[in-house]
Amino acid sequence: MGLNALQQAVGKDIVRAPGEIDLARHLKDLVQQAPAGIDLVGVAYPRTTRDVSDILRICNRENIKVTPQGGLTGLVGGGVPVERSLLLSMERMRRIEEIDAEAATMTVQAGAVLEAVQNAASEAGFFFPLDLGGRGSAQIGGVVSTNAGGNRVLRYGMMRDLVLGLEVVLADGTVVSSLNKMIKNNTGYDLKQLFIGSEGTLGVVTRAVLRLSPKPLSVCTALCAVEDYAAVLALLRQARQGFGGALSAFEAMWPEFYHIGTEGLGRQAPLAPGRGVYVLIELMGADPAADAARFEAVIGAALEAGLIKDAVIARSERETRSLWAIRECPGEFPKVFWPQLAFDISVPTGEIGDLKRDIETALRSRWPEIQLVFFGHVADANLHFSAKLDADPMPEHEIDEVTYAAVGARKGSISAEHGIGFSKRLFLHYSRGPEELELMRTLKRALDPNGILNPGKVI
Ligand code: ZN
Repeated sequence: MGLNALQQAVGKDIVRAPGEIDLARHLKDLVQQAPAGIDLVGVAYPRTTRDVSDILRICNRENIKVTPQGGLTGLVGGGVPVERSLLLSMERMRRIEEIDAEAATMTVQAGAVLEAVQNAASEAGFFFPLDLGGRGSAQIGGVVSTNAGGNRVLRYGMMRDLVLGLEVVLADGTVVSSLNKMIKNNTGYDLKQLFIGSEGTLGVVTRAVLRLSPKPLSVCTALCAVEDYAAVLALLRQARQGFGGALSAFEAMWPEFYHIGTEGLGRQAPLAPGRGVYVLIELMGADPAADAARFEAVIGAALEAGLIKDAVIARSERETRSLWAIRECPGEFPKVFWPQLAFDISVPTGEIGDLKRDIETALRSRWPEIQLVFFGHVADANLHFSAKLDADPMPEHEIDEVTYAAVGARKGSISAEHGIGFSKRLFLHYSRGPEELELMRTLKRALDPNGILNPGKVI
């Protein structure tokens, strides 16, 4: 019944029956998989906001649940169906509609791929700074809905800081168009923020106005080795002081991670192993000669003072890429560190070293052979780690519990930038109090009274 009504209203080329298409690619993200044999209504591939509106209106009336999908590059199952539902794939809505040079904005449809947005900004002489490993598939709608972060958050902010306006379709099909281009606009509630980071549970993002930055004219990159986390903090202070707002990345990698990113993947290590922490530092500026001199002076002074024990400064784009390749090695974990569990947590930057120790102690006391690799965007308070245990099956839930209890004890976040999806739902209480959870449920009931949007996710 539901499928027929949808096909009649919006067309059979837009709403497809499950048997008509290759479903497999719609059933998993980078880590999570839909339950085996999940029953689906079909897959919708809308072309316009009007299509999305028609589809949601009918689904709301017929009580058909809807799982919105972007590029499926998440890690927590936010776009993976876990209940009988219609999949709503935004991949056909990928137009870059406008670049407004005076406002420094770009208006795009939700299915536009992040890399295409970055390239379009660059061609127009601008820079869209949000960047992450899944850039070739991640779609703007998903990046907005998950409030994605990545490597340059310390300078440019999370996605929340890069969105000026949104067009959203509500559960009942109402189109809310807030395609604002102004940085200053205090006219009542900032409605777009409800939809940024709520993972498609309150509405479906169909278009976004993105904030562009001036294109950096110089990029300086260095890999530095220091003795311990206290030295990482001291180096961060010096980098902030020395580079000011030009500091664009400050990525910490602990030795086991550094080993995988270099020799573990058959690449020559630019710095010898054996140091306490490796830090990738990036400066983006507007004056190539002066920036390079300033970069070398700050790194050189830290070396001379004994804070940095060893360092390499990239001398070409190829060298820059090879330094970043170490940091981006989690994309290659399936070759060398698999199966694994990936964590994305946060505590204030000064506590990250202690949190890392808490987690290692807690996990090793239960599973002495567990292998752990730590890395993260420490300037954003964000620590990542992956855990591998040669047990079949891996005691996934118990490892999660031990980890999130350690995070909760420090009042940290169990999800710094990946979201909750379905895989972290049970643990949300470690980071959010009962009043916060009840307010989230109140918002959900108000915006989606029939509970059709992204069932089984977040709250
Ligand atoms: Zn990250």
